[in-house]
Amino acid sequence: MFSSPSTPQLQRPGHVRHCKYCLFGLPGTQVGLDASRLAIVFYCIGTLDLLGLLDSGSKPHEREEWRRWIWEQYVVSEHGAGFRPGPFVVTAVDGEDKSRSTNAHDTPHIIMTYTAVISLSILQDDLKRLDKKQLLSFLRSCQREDGSFSTIPGSTDSDLRTTYCAFAIFKMLDDWSGIDIPRAVSYIQRCRSYEGGYGQYPWNEAQGGTTYTALASLYMIPEAVQSSLRPQARLTDVERAQSVRWLVQQQTEAGGFSGRTGKEADACYCFWCSASLDILGAGHLVDESAVIGFMGQCQFKFGGIAKAPGEDAADPYHTYLSLAALSLGTARGATLPDESWKLEPLNPLLNARTSVAEWAQAKMSNAQ
Ligand SMILES: [Zn+2]
Repeated sequence: MFSSPSTPQLQRPGHVRHCKYCLFGLPGTQVGLDASRLAIVFYCIGTLDLLGLLDSGSKPHEREEWRRWIWEQYVVSEHGAGFRPGPFVVTAVDGEDKSRSTNAHDTPHIIMTYTAVISLSILQDDLKRLDKKQLLSFLRSCQREDGSFSTIPGSTDSDLRTTYCAFAIFKMLDDWSGIDIPRAVSYIQRCRSYEGGYGQYPWNEAQGGTTYTALASLYMIPEAVQSSLRPQARLTDVERAQSVRWLVQQQTEAGGFSGRTGKEADACYCFWCSASLDILGAGHLVDESAVIGFMGQCQFKFGGIAKAPGEDAADPYHTYLSLAALSLGTARGATLPDESWKLEPLNPLLNARTSVAEWAQAKMSNAQ
């Protein structure tokens, strides 16, 4: 390790402050995210976790309050059980059972269910309140005719993000029963573009985030199922080489990764693209020093990490994903400017700290 005069330290106290601030109430720059509040909770708690500062950076009663609030979003609907985005869709009045769906919008949501389960695992919840049968029933009811998954049952709102979240939950449950895996794989394969990345929907331009969700989904399918699929789910050698080349080409001269060909570097794509390279066994092709230098410039003066240098605000999404990218870099043996940049190792498929991913899998696979 060496000390680089040009790269600042990772501003840990500022990043903790930013995320705790957002946990108590979203700043004006972030109010548009209120409809996906559970996801914000995941990025904030996940940031504290990756920094290894969850215990020292928060009090036990705060962590208990976060846990209680997440469980308040657990809802049982006619299609099964899962987590809603936040309390804004609840119409039940005080005294009524808020864990029962009260209107068509108050249903479990796949993306929020994934973020809730990881957040609860970070908080070391035993997940005993999860009803496995009801959760599987909810997930199955989201699979559409074309193989994709909708965010909520009956919705046409589906893309590769929801497929990823559904697959991550199946993996943690260690139960893939009742879903049509070949059809889901076929949908993912139809999203592959000529460049070697994946678009959000079939025929869309390749994008770093959806490329990650596609590859992570394909590589999460259990070995026993993989071997029976025709065509195979995992990439052929030719496809892999094409994807690796496209992903490597997204690292720009600024040091960070861009999300699409010809675009500017953006901190979140440092995770989406480098985690994709890890999944394909090509993480060693990331220029780690350049990523760290880019992240150093993306740090916001009042805490948090912005999407690019010079932005006028940071947000929990870019803060968490930047740290997740740095975690992968640490695991690959990146040369760090100093110890402040050293982070906890991350599971690239589940996008959670390694021991959190193990916790989630152990608790969920034993759920009743
Ligand atoms: Zn971004």
